[in-house]
Amino acid sequence: MTLREVNAAQGISARRMFSWVALIVSGLFALGIGLIAADQQQVLLSTTRMQEQTLPTIMAKQRLARNLEQLRVAGDDVFDAPSDVARQQALFMTELIAAHPSIQDDPHANALAKQTKRFFAQDLPPGTLTSDTLTKHRGQWQRLSKQLGLLIDDMFNDSIHLASQELSAVTAIQTWVRYKLVVILPLFIGIVLFLLWSAHALLVKPLQRMDQLLGEIDAVDAMPLMPSSPLREITAVQAALRALHELLQHKEQTRQTLERMAEHDDLTGLLNRRKFMEQAAVELNRDHRNHRPVSVAMADIDFFKSINDTFGHTGGDQVLKAFADILKKDLRESDLVGRIGGEEFAFVLPETGPEAAKQLMERIRSTVQANPMVLTDGGRVQATISIGVADAANSALAVALRHADTALYSAKALGRNRVEVHQA
Ligand code: GH3
Ligand code: MG
Ligand code: MG
Repeated sequence: MTLREVNAAQGISARRMFSWVALIVSGLFALGIGLIAADQQQVLLSTTRMQEQTLPTIMAKQRLARNLEQLRVAGDDVFDAPSDVARQQALFMTELIAAHPSIQDDPHANALAKQTKRFFAQDLPPGTLTSDTLTKHRGQWQRLSKQLGLLIDDMFNDSIHLASQELSAVTAIQTWVRYKLVVILPLFIGIVLFLLWSAHALLVKPLQRMDQLLGEIDAVDAMPLMPSSPLREITAVQAALRALHELLQHKEQTRQTLERMAEHDDLTGLLNRRKFMEQAAVELNRDHRNHRPVSVAMADIDFFKSINDTFGHTGGDQVLKAFADILKKDLRESDLVGRIGGEEFAFVLPETGPEAAKQLMERIRSTVQANPMVLTDGGRVQATISIGVADAANSALAVALRHADTALYSAKALGRNRVEVHQA
């Protein structure tokens, strides 16, 4: 089973989440652009309409107004002409202007032009006009001229109205565009900021945290807490980190077990011969350097062969274990003890001269004697031990141990169950 299968991660896939976000953001973006583009299209239409319809209409109205104004002027000239010839010319002008297509195209202007034509053709008597006749008809003309003036004003007003109508339509659209921009822009800035924030919170920060964890991760300390993440990929990497940490811890435990097995005797848990010799040499060197008292000792269980014979090998093993337990309890933290042979044990006792060492060993010997060992099958073993002690303050480890062994041999020879100090 792969790590990935073990840590079947939960949560949303980052790919899916960011695809959705991209879809929503581009949708919103397209909508905003679309709204603004629609408004721009309106502005374009309005401008085209202005060019193709409104401006020509305004120009036509301006032209009409100008022609009506000329009709008025020509009419005034009829009354103000200095001679008959000039009057005839002015009359001709009124007829000419009244017949202009721009006037005829406008019903209202056409009606007034016809009225003007009729006035000059029928109401004014032809031929030479006296000043009386002119004065009599001038008032009538002035009323007609006033109507022409009002129509001219209307034309100007219409033009202005048309132009301003078109302009305000464009302005209204532009105002809308501005409002939309005011809403859309902050919205987009908000979305972009939100995106940046979520990318930071969901990706960058967890990655930074994991990077930091990779630096801190070790086999001994507990796994530091990792904040939960909604993204499946991040959860998967976090789970992998936890699995890695467990693996490291397991490896470290195995290493420690192997190290312990390599250095300790697995029956009694005491140091084995190799480790004892290594540590004893270090300890003795230190004591020699500092000129401190130090002793060594060797202990051997008496008649162990017959214990084995009587209680079986398993019984013998239990005696060895029970003896090791007594040693662990009775010795000081600074004392060094190892099982260096079948039922042989060696000691280094720092800060202890041979006499004090003898007392310490005597205490152990009497404890063993006073406490018959109870076996799992209920049997009781009254074991005893013989111990040899030697001063090691001025001797190398091998020499000191040989001296202790000699003393142990003496203890055996002197009847066992006793402590002997090597005599230099
Ligand atoms: P002495 O008083 O002279 O020391 O007599 P002894 O019988 O103890 O002497 P010897 O050293 O000859 O016997 C040691 C015995 O210890 C021999 C061996 O079978 C036994 N032995 C060695 N290692 C172990 C072990 O791990 N378990 C058990 N049960 N017996 C062991
Ligand atoms: Mg023995
Ligand atoms: Mg022996």
